[in-house]
Order: sequence, then structure tokens, then C-alpha cells
Amino acid sequence: MQGGSELPGFYKLSTEERLKLLQKLAGLTEEEVKVLGNTGGLPSDIANRMIENVVGGMTLPLGIATNFLVNGKDYVVPMAIEEPSVVAAASNAAKIARVKGGFKVTNTGPVMIGQIQTVGVRDPRMAAKKLAARKKVLLAKANEQDPMLVSLGGGAKDLNVKIIESLKGPMVIVELFVNCGDAMGANAVNTMAEAVAPLVEAISGGRVYLRIISNLADRRLVKATAVFDKEALGGEEVVEGILYAYAFADADPYRCATHNKGIMNGVVAVALACGQDTRALEAGAHSYASRSGAYKPLTTWKVNKDGDLVGTLEMPMAVGLVGGAAKVHPTAKANVKILGLKTAIELAEVMGAVGLAQNFAALRALASEGIQRGHMKLHARNIAASVGATGKMVDQIADQLVAEKKIRMDRAKEILDGLSKK
Ligand code: NAD
Repeated sequence: MQGGSELPGFYKLSTEERLKLLQKLAGLTEEEVKVLGNTGGLPSDIANRMIENVVGGMTLPLGIATNFLVNGKDYVVPMAIEEPSVVAAASNAAKIARVKGGFKVTNTGPVMIGQIQTVGVRDPRMAAKKLAARKKVLLAKANEQDPMLVSLGGGAKDLNVKIIESLKGPMVIVELFVNCGDAMGANAVNTMAEAVAPLVEAISGGRVYLRIISNLADRRLVKATAVFDKEALGGEEVVEGILYAYAFADADPYRCATHNKGIMNGVVAVALACGQDTRALEAGAHSYASRSGAYKPLTTWKVNKDGDLVGTLEMPMAVGLVGGAAKVHPTAKANVKILGLKTAIELAEVMGAVGLAQNFAALRALASEGIQRGHMKLHARNIAASVGATGKMVDQIADQLVAEKKIRMDRAKEILDGLSKK
């Protein structure tokens, strides 16, 4: 950017003033300023309250995945994502899952962990013992912070004290286990962790540094299972191919990263649509996948006695319907209504089903025709649009690219030039 990046006082400007300044700095056209300033379904004043230095909005396509039957209830599922094929793949997988009754999902309850790091303790074992003995007092202090959550049946329910060896010597870590109800809970848990810290210092004789939630939410898991009928999914050979794909992911972290990424295509798309903290979900997923010390698939796949494929996804799902963007972003609120959700647990369970569906769809495509064929048409349309095609020409060019098996920008441009001349 010309003129440096310091921009003193940028935060004090109005959205329009910031955009004007940015226009000058980056040489933006009027059209570009208009595009940036468009906050879509999110009123500018709400956007301004959500984050800092706001200049506008960034819109993603919102698609609806169909066919989802989760714990006997039908859902149409909003997904916000920029990647082609994800919504279609989820809908298709959910359709196949319906043959054998859809998705069954269970959960461990909405419990998050808050960590309090204590250092400089002379006798860590003695301090840990004393802290554990004062559990009641510590939990009471935590719960004082959130009478609302406690009145709803949530709050700090238990704690654990552990000693860890670190680069800077032993540390005593107090972990609060907080039932967060319908909240994702980061603010609630952080507030509790901060409030109990002085007590932890007094009891342990140490010094507290960090007081913060853990995103390895292994007390807030969902477990989604579905049976995929072998005929409906394409026959025995495809079942075998999926089992080989799963074995590959289980044995090799390079493959496993992509296996789990496919799951997150679904999970994150629903999360974004519903105003959730997608980074918290990603952090939870990948740290949970590594809990054994090796990076492993979040799903498991096997065959049942009928020869059908049985998939299970188990992962942390820290989501909320109160607090965060879910309660303030109008599009997120509408999407929660589309899902017909009553509780955060229900959202977590639907997301578990979508993650499993997405993994099934990707493995099925990989084990049969290969992922590119499914992607090709949408990819070709994107390529056509990216070289400047509009309206009917987009499909015309995309069809030709697919037929020629040359889904490339240079070819798209040639076809476009030819059509434009006509
Ligand atoms: P919050 O504090 O806005 O809302 C939670 C509060 O709502 C509870 O403490 C409770 O008092 C009240 N409440 C009302 N009805 C409730 C119900 N039915 N169930 C539960 N609580 C109810 O939000 P939060 O969920 O504590 O925090 C979420 C936000 O924190 C997200 O925006 C997230 O991005 C952010 N955050 C995340 C991290 C992290 O993941 N590491 C760290 C800091 C902040």
C-alpha cells in the first residue's frame, strides 16, 4: 500500500471516512469502494460493534444442504462457503444416509475447560494437593461470576489440578470444568478463570499468569453415526475403496490432514452460516485429532454384517446460540431459525452430522470417480467467470471446457473471445 501502514487515528474515523482514505491509499475505483462498503445482510452499525476498524463487509455464498435426517428430525442446513461442490456433496450424502435412517448423534454435554497457570510454586505436589482440597471454595468463586448461567443449570461443576513439566520448569495448572449451556462459553469461562486466580495464588503460594479457556474441548464432544447402504452408495467396490481411503488416512498424516479438512468443509460452513467461532472449532478438531500423540482421522469407517458402510465422527463441537455473533448477526439469526434450533447442543449435533456426511461424500468420490469429476462443472464455471464471461456465456463456456477436458483460463479466454466476436 502506498503511503505506509501506520494510519494514526484510523480507528477514530467513521466507516465512510476509512473507506475514502483506503480508496486514496490503494487507488480503488468507485466500483471497488461500493463493493467493499456493501455489508450485505449485516447493517453497518452492527458490523462496527462486532470488530474494529470496519470498512465494509465480505459476503460469501449461502447455500442450503437438503435431505438431513438427524436423530429422527428433518433439517435443511444453511452453509456459508466459497468452495464449489461442498453443499451438493453434503445433500447427496445425507440422501444416501436416509436409506438406513439418517444420522444418530449423541453428545457429552456443553462443558468447556478454563485453565489457570501457576508458576514459581516451591512444592508443586503440596500446592496441587491444597488446591484440590479447596475445590468447593474455588468453584463457588467461579460461579459467583455468572449467576445467570448458574440459574440456568450451568456453571463451574468440577475442577482438576495437574502438574506439568515445561521449558521453564514445573507449573501447577488448575482446570475449571464449566457447563456453558447454550453459550460457546469463552467469555464466561475466561471471566471465571480470572476471578479465581487470586485465590489460586493465595492457596498455592505461586504466581498466576494465564487464565484462559482451552479450545481442546474434549468434554464437549459430539458423536455422529450413520449407516450408508452399500447399494445406494455404489456397490461393494466403492465400500472397499472407502475402507482403503480410511486406512490411508489412519496411517499417514499427509492424507489425514486432507481427510479431516474435508470434515471441516461441512462443519465450518454451517458454523459460519450460524455466526460461530470457526477458529475455535478448527483448533478443537485438530488438537483432538492429535490427542494420542499421532495425528488421526476424526472419523472411523467399517462394514456391518449386511455389507453396509458404517461411519462415525467424534469431535469437539464448541458452539453457542447466546453470546458471540450468533445473537447479533441478522443472517446468522435467520439461519438458526431455518434450522429450527432450540439449543446449542442441537446445533452441535447437526454440525456433527454434516461433518460425517461431508467426509463420506469426499471418500466416496475419491474411491470411485475421483474428486475432480464432481468438481469440474463448477470449477469450469468459476474459470469462465474469472476471464470475464457473464450471463449465458458462463455455462456455454463451462460446458465446452468440460467437454474438451481443458478447464484452463487460457482456453476459457479463447472461447470467450470467439463468442464475443460473433
Ligand atoms: P457471552 O459471554 O456473550 O454469553 C454467555 C453468557 O450468556 C453466559 O455467561 C450467561 O450469563 C448468558 N446466558 C444467557 N442465556 C444463556 C443460556 N441459555 N446458556 C448459557 N448462557 C446463557 O459469550 P460466550 O459464549 O461466553 O463467549 C463466546 C465468544 O467468545 C465468541 O464470540 C468467541 O469468539 C469469543 N472468544 C473465544 C475465545 C477462544 O475460543 N479461545 C477466546 C475469547 C473470546
